Amino acid sequence: MAVIEKALNFKYPHGFSTRIGGVSTGVYESLNLGMNRGDDKELVIKNWDLFRKASGITNEQFVCGEQIHSNIVHIATKEDLRPAYGPGFMNTADGYVTNLRNVPIAIFTADCVPLLLEDSKAGVIGAIHCGWKSTVADIEKEAVTKMASLGSDPSDIHAAIGPSIDICCFEVGPEVISAVSDLLTEPADDLYLQKENGKYMLDLRGVVKRRLEELGVLPEHIEYVGGCTMCNPTRYWSHRYTGGVRGSQASIIMIP
Ligand SMILES: [Zn+2]
Repeated sequence: MAVIEKALNFKYPHGFSTRIGGVSTGVYESLNLGMNRGDDKELVIKNWDLFRKASGITNEQFVCGEQIHSNIVHIATKEDLRPAYGPGFMNTADGYVTNLRNVPIAIFTADCVPLLLEDSKAGVIGAIHCGWKSTVADIEKEAVTKMASLGSDPSDIHAAIGPSIDICCFEVGPEVISAVSDLLTEPADDLYLQKENGKYMLDLRGVVKRRLEELGVLPEHIEYVGGCTMCNPTRYWSHRYTGGVRGSQASIIMIP
């Protein structure tokens, strides 16, 4: 049984995966959902079956794509649906939104912040890969704007910020702090700690939360799900902890 984590306040089927409860072995043990990490294809397909089932999504096909740390958010349609390792066009995007039923949308992470969005009033969802590069490129605004184009009001959006590298482990250079300060309207100095070596520890989940609030998502509609990926390497895939030899988490949501 795939071990997943869930938002308390979501109505639609969804899940954030951990690395527990899958069938992969070796460095991919056990719930690897990454399709380009070098793992055995049949085992990853089985892992996707286990993950979707645990998330309450029985649909065989879903939407995912190649992530490039951009601010590209794609409005997903039925044409984008495919099974794991399915044939055909694979999107290049770091996020998906849709207002269509039975179109599961998914993104991959292993330290970056996975963000799921749900407006059950308008019937619009989002799955967004928020690394620091995508975040300072304002992928949060792209997501909220594209959800609004499908009829969603930001004050009706619920946000779940999933397992990712936290301020305890996320060391960054001054250029990242500068870009975060440029992104946010309010001062960001409560979202990072300066170190003696000239580096900083950054609360990237806090940056994502702050940006969502600036875009009109209500603070009481935003929740954190799960813990720090790097502090918990047996529970989560962490790119930094493993030096990049690893599987991937996925986060998925669907309007039933
Ligand atoms: Zn940590």
